Amino acid sequence: MSHDGVQRWIRPEIRALAAYHVPDARGFIKLDAMENPYTWPAELVEQWLEVLRSLSLNRYPDPSCASLKARLRTAMGVPDGMELLLGNGSDELIQMILMAVAGPGRSIVVPEPAFAMYRIIAALTGLDYVGVPLEAGFDIDLPAMEAALQAHTPAVVFLAYPNNPTGNQFSRERVERVIEAAPGLVVLDEAYAAFARDSFMDALSRYDNLLVLRTVSKMGLAGLRLGLLAGAAHWLTELDKVRLPYNINVLTQASAEFALAHREVLDAQTRQIRKDRTTLLDALARLPGIRPYPSDANFVLFRVPAGRAEGVFQGLKDRGVLIKNLSALGGALTDCLRVTVGTPEENRAFLDALGETLASRP
Ligand code: PMP
Repeated sequence: MSHDGVQRWIRPEIRALAAYHVPDARGFIKLDAMENPYTWPAELVEQWLEVLRSLSLNRYPDPSCASLKARLRTAMGVPDGMELLLGNGSDELIQMILMAVAGPGRSIVVPEPAFAMYRIIAALTGLDYVGVPLEAGFDIDLPAMEAALQAHTPAVVFLAYPNNPTGNQFSRERVERVIEAAPGLVVLDEAYAAFARDSFMDALSRYDNLLVLRTVSKMGLAGLRLGLLAGAAHWLTELDKVRLPYNINVLTQASAEFALAHREVLDAQTRQIRKDRTTLLDALARLPGIRPYPSDANFVLFRVPAGRAEGVFQGLKDRGVLIKNLSALGGALTDCLRVTVGTPEENRAFLDALGETLASRP
């Protein structure tokens, strides 16, 4: 189709978007995407392959995902009486929620800096996006948030808990105040729950407007693409109507069930990552000019000397280490980069490369 056709038929808000950029990580120590760096022991891989052998790819998947949901309930501590909705990654659940509420004059409110997909999916679904800056220490600015709720009456508020890209958990009291003050839904996005100290899963029965979003991605199963939304049946029944019938494929259902039946392997990896996070934070804090922020997640946001973020990012890349440069986003993220906690060897390689990069003045 000609450029004219694009102009004529593709909606202006889509044309205005930049596609979610995923850099080519081949050949790099990959510390840019909050993945778990560990694979499974060989015998577990063999057992998993046996499970795959028994699957029928000629049949559609179980549309209700009944046995996977039962596993997820236990694994995620979903309270009795609450329902589950599954998505092809938690990304897809964010999309389902927003498709269900979108309409003229509707908006969402998000404290910023935030996970980029809230803004992108709001744009795709025609919702107004209202970002409310966090305080300097990255906690919720409650008066600003309450003012935004008053001014915009948002259909949905997203709170990532812990937050990406800042890594912290907001203070629980402020989150509660936002849930109480919000006119519509509040989605607590607990993508990083496996590394966090606190959760709102248990609070679901206390707040009718609360939904809790989780994913298996950061637990070591990012390749499966599986997210879950927990909440009251009356909300999830409506959101389920937006879901495409077979959104969780046969391989994902069987593999996730298998992995969750061997949770101890994933849990041990998660424990190791939490331990290595402390080592990484301490080492970063000792580097001259570097200021790491506290993290409840499997990544660390850190600040470099003014004006050096791009140079540090490139310097790390030149030394074979890929992290995320957030500085160009501006505001509170100016001079900030984000590194995922990898294996002890990967973290060491990153720290060495960072030390060298800082020492070689641009
Ligand atoms: N929520 C947050 C806060 C995230 O950081 C991410 C991934 N970076 C997601 C949701 C999406 O995760 P997934 O689609 O892999 O479940």
